[in-house]
Amino acid sequence: MARVVLKNVWKRFPDKPGKPKEAVKNINLSCEDKEFIVLVGPSGCGKSTTLRLIAGLEEATEGEIFIEDKMVNDVPPKDRDIAMVFQNYALYPHMNVYENMAFGLKMKKLPREEIKQRVLEAADILGITEILDKKPRVLSGGQRQRVALGRAIVRKPKVFLFDEPLSNLDAKLRVQMRAEISKLHTRLQATMIYVTHDQIEAMTMGDRIVVMKDGLIQQIADPITLYDQPSNKFVASFIGSPSMNFMDGTLVKKKDAVYFSEENFTVKVHDDHAAALEEYASRDLTMGIRPEDIFDKVYASNASPDNTITATVEVVEPMGAEALLYLTTGKSPFIARVASYEQLEVNQDIDLVFDMSKAHFFDKATEQTII
Ligand code: ATP
Repeated sequence: MARVVLKNVWKRFPDKPGKPKEAVKNINLSCEDKEFIVLVGPSGCGKSTTLRLIAGLEEATEGEIFIEDKMVNDVPPKDRDIAMVFQNYALYPHMNVYENMAFGLKMKKLPREEIKQRVLEAADILGITEILDKKPRVLSGGQRQRVALGRAIVRKPKVFLFDEPLSNLDAKLRVQMRAEISKLHTRLQATMIYVTHDQIEAMTMGDRIVVMKDGLIQQIADPITLYDQPSNKFVASFIGSPSMNFMDGTLVKKKDAVYFSEENFTVKVHDDHAAALEEYASRDLTMGIRPEDIFDKVYASNASPDNTITATVEVVEPMGAEALLYLTTGKSPFIARVASYEQLEVNQDIDLVFDMSKAHFFDKATEQTII
């Protein structure tokens, strides 16, 4: 299997005269052998273009692309030893499942027996042996996607590329296939690069995640680092569901402690964070706090006037074991994820405790992370 490296890669598409569309801007990325890398970001951020550049379906405007230490910029897609799985499956309708999976190998003129062995082995891995004689039109979405995966597996490529492969499946099947692709990665010990706009897919599948926006890489990290230490406000808001809450305010220094003050509340900055925030005294900044780091004071063991605020409940969204509370301080809307919610009513004021050791702070102007 193989390492994939992108060095200073740019892709500009012809757009308005004299003003090309920069879809990918100076991407530097190294996907290690056997690694599962996920490219994630909102629509139009350049993730599919990046994948297509690796596949050779687009030509880089600038920069170098390496697969297994060989520069492949001028190597056609069929000679790059990659297999790509698309959202729309791209199966041949007139061929049955066996023929669909065997097609690429036939083109490569592999011996009949070897083709048969590879197809049967892949069908076994994917649990589709029973449907080998069926045509795609009679298959469910999940079965079609398995066939598309099978067609990639039989080729034994150096690198698997996935472009939103689960987007056409319903929610339940998506969760199931997500786990199956992860198992497949473990079993095949292959290098895989996976594109999705779904941050949950990214978090659950990736060894490392590449977060993109506007053609630029925002951060590359493993899922937990991305969640706990986002490099900027965009990453902080994109990773996690519901999103991190953001509140604009200023820092106020009182005696030995530093406080964050929004219009309608003040909380004490955790002692471990105070020094790093020193240069931001009296400057505008944004505090970020995740819904699960906010607690109903009634159930909080660490409540003090320094970490408690009063907010108004706007919506209670029960989710079974827990609920999401949509709240407002009067200035900032925010969400808390709480375990007990039967007593709560809309328009009621509630005291909430912030776990300030988990708070994030961003420069309001640059949106870069301070803490
Ligand atoms: P999506 O999830 O919607 O596919 P994406 O993150 O994969 O989004 P890309 O498809 O890589 O984004 O597109 C990045 C930008 O490049 C977009 O603004 C898109 O309109 C533009 N783009 C992509 N392909 C072309 C093309 N062939 N010609 C012109 N512009 C293009």
